[in-house]
Amino acid sequence: MNENNKEKLSRTSLTFKIVLALFAGLASGIFLKAIPKNVFVDQYLLDGLFLITGKMFIASLKMLVVPLVFVSLVCGVCGLDDVKNIGKLGGKTLLLYLITTSIAITLALFIAFIIGPGDGFNLPIDLSFTPQNAPAISEIIINLVPSNPIKSAADGKMLQIIVFAILIGIGISTLGKDGKRMTEFFSDANKVLMQLVNLLMFFAPFGVFALITRVFAKQGFAAIMPLSSYFLTVLGILMVHLFLSYSTMLLIFARINPFVVLKKMRPTMMFAFSTASSNASIPITMKTVCEKLGVPRSIASFTVPLGATINMDGTAIMQGVATVFIAGAYGIDIGVSEFLMVIFTATLASIGTAGVPGVGLITLAMVLRQAGLPVEGIGLIMGVDRLLDMARTAVNVFGDAAVSCVVAKTENRLDYSIYSDQPTHSSSV
Ligand code: ASP
Repeated sequence: MNENNKEKLSRTSLTFKIVLALFAGLASGIFLKAIPKNVFVDQYLLDGLFLITGKMFIASLKMLVVPLVFVSLVCGVCGLDDVKNIGKLGGKTLLLYLITTSIAITLALFIAFIIGPGDGFNLPIDLSFTPQNAPAISEIIINLVPSNPIKSAADGKMLQIIVFAILIGIGISTLGKDGKRMTEFFSDANKVLMQLVNLLMFFAPFGVFALITRVFAKQGFAAIMPLSSYFLTVLGILMVHLFLSYSTMLLIFARINPFVVLKKMRPTMMFAFSTASSNASIPITMKTVCEKLGVPRSIASFTVPLGATINMDGTAIMQGVATVFIAGAYGIDIGVSEFLMVIFTATLASIGTAGVPGVGLITLAMVLRQAGLPVEGIGLIMGVDRLLDMARTAVNVFGDAAVSCVVAKTENRLDYSIYSDQPTHSSSV
């Protein structure tokens, strides 16, 4: 068996193991939820073994996020033919992210308005939800510049890390010959970090299994029943966006088959699903986008972390449906101006918040407030949010990958030999 085939086989079996882990976790979670409560299951399995395994898995993913984003982005900027290109690349990426998010929220509002998931919903007497404050737009802009880059790294402030990495990259590449050693250092550091991502992948099936088992053993499906119209509307629109909006975009603008992209992204989407965090998924998304879809590293190192922070189409879809649902449940009519306000706020709200579990609910408070709807309405949907968070995070991550492909294509740098599984070299730069 030649090296290529061997590599293909091991990748396939890893994908297979992750898929298996997800379904096994689903089955064991449902089983553990169904059996009578006992100390062994609750204390030793769910809050013991599975909690430890799941948390350690997420922690090891997070451990790699900041160094990987920083190092690979510095490498990316150093690898650009012309640093002046960054502005063009950034503008294009940002525009595409904003366009896809506004399409997502418009689609959600439109379909939810027709379905009316909140109509006739009986409000529970006691609604308790205290909203947290989402950052103001001016604050987001000021905070782009890291006054203390070490603190930004410690706090995982992705936009600040991105800005700092770009500046360091510009510094190195404009030094010319004098920057050569630093370029080599970052390139080697990048290889080391990617090697750690490879190692981590081997533990992925255990992590996925533990996380999924715990969620389904703790949540079950009981909470979904009274909110099934809301739940299913969000899921349905996530599918429409995935199969219609992204597919059209990939087909027309990247000239690649969306089903092939979906197949290659499947394990990455499962990571996103089980961790409910686009940020924690960055190392895996980056690896897939470069090594399976053929996006050069200098582009992916920019588009993927940026996308994990500002591109949350799945989240925007949840927010659109939640707005219509809450308005319906309270019997409040929303007009065109409120709809436009929701589209505007939901698109911008995603920019300043990191892709971590549950952040969509925080920005939803901002959206509802702008639309003049009761923020306490969030209490209605909280019970099913964890499951929807998992699903929408998978869509968020797919969106980051799709936009990365389109950006690479418009730069004429999408490597079709990697995309079609006939790489002429091991990894794209
Ligand atoms: N968990 C989502 C993400 O990481 C954000 C959210 O919708 O809450 O992309």
